[in-house]
Amino acid sequence: MEIKEYRNPVNVLHFDAIRAFLTSSNCMFTQLHEAISKGLLNEVIIDNSSNSFKTPSVNLETKVMQLHESHLSYLWTVCYFLTSVREITFERATSNGIIHLNDSPKFDTLICLLEWGRSLKTHHCSWPIDMPDPTHPTDTASNANLLYIYALQYLMYHEVGHFVLHYDAIDFIKATKNPFYELTKQDVDLLYNMETEADNYAFDCMSLCDEEDNIKFLKHSGAVVAHLSNFYLLSEPDIRGYTHPDLDRRLRCITEKIEIQSKELSWGINHLYATGIQLFFCINHIEILPKDLEQHSYEDWNEIGSDLYNILDLLKKDYQIFKPYKEYLL
Ligand SMILES: [Zn+2]
Repeated sequence: MEIKEYRNPVNVLHFDAIRAFLTSSNCMFTQLHEAISKGLLNEVIIDNSSNSFKTPSVNLETKVMQLHESHLSYLWTVCYFLTSVREITFERATSNGIIHLNDSPKFDTLICLLEWGRSLKTHHCSWPIDMPDPTHPTDTASNANLLYIYALQYLMYHEVGHFVLHYDAIDFIKATKNPFYELTKQDVDLLYNMETEADNYAFDCMSLCDEEDNIKFLKHSGAVVAHLSNFYLLSEPDIRGYTHPDLDRRLRCITEKIEIQSKELSWGINHLYATGIQLFFCINHIEILPKDLEQHSYEDWNEIGSDLYNILDLLKKDYQIFKPYKEYLL
């Protein structure tokens, strides 16, 4: 009997993802070339061992960026979910009133796939054979692949940001990783600022060249999904960051910087982050209803956004009462 070696389907995207990371634009190519020639970045490793689930990380000492296949599989399931929800919304957008997604025949599959992706954080498991994956010959899978490549690109540029901007602080960062090291308020502020700087660096990398709106749309959608993907990994809905900016703050910072002329594409970005936050509510059984129940309507995206962010603020306030973080400011 022939025993085939298991290959994770997300493998098929590794080459395209690394190529997109290295050559997304001429300006980025020059910047990365400089970082590599200065010895700031030696290698990108994709760890496919079954016992690890980690978001992308850098080792400033070895100058190696490490990606983990389990996390990449999870990221793809988020991209597939959000791509499918966008497609279902567009299919149904002509009907009046609230668009329900859970009566779509695709919905059960979407939930199962996402739950499998989220379960990888604690249990390693091969890709279920009856579920969509990156090799599926469908438009939805192709669109999810594209979104995944840009989301991963953003996460990788965030790590490059740490190499480029924080290499000088290597001793401090090493010290804070020691479990016996007690963080001072000043340390927390420093770490917090480093994360904000790396987020800004990644966003700037994704916006280096004057590109057409549809390319900008894809890249910025990737940045939004990269941030949303952190929400669904939480075991409880505590989005406070402490040494990192809170998850909602990081997402909001990025979405507020996005400038896209085309109304249709800018609608697409708003729809993406709004459905992404609602998915987080849905996973955590947090109820959200429109303010105006009679009309089932909001005036505009700002109104929807402020409602969603208000709910997230209330959540953080509750956590701060019951599980206070020292010196945490809302
Ligand atoms: Zn970081």
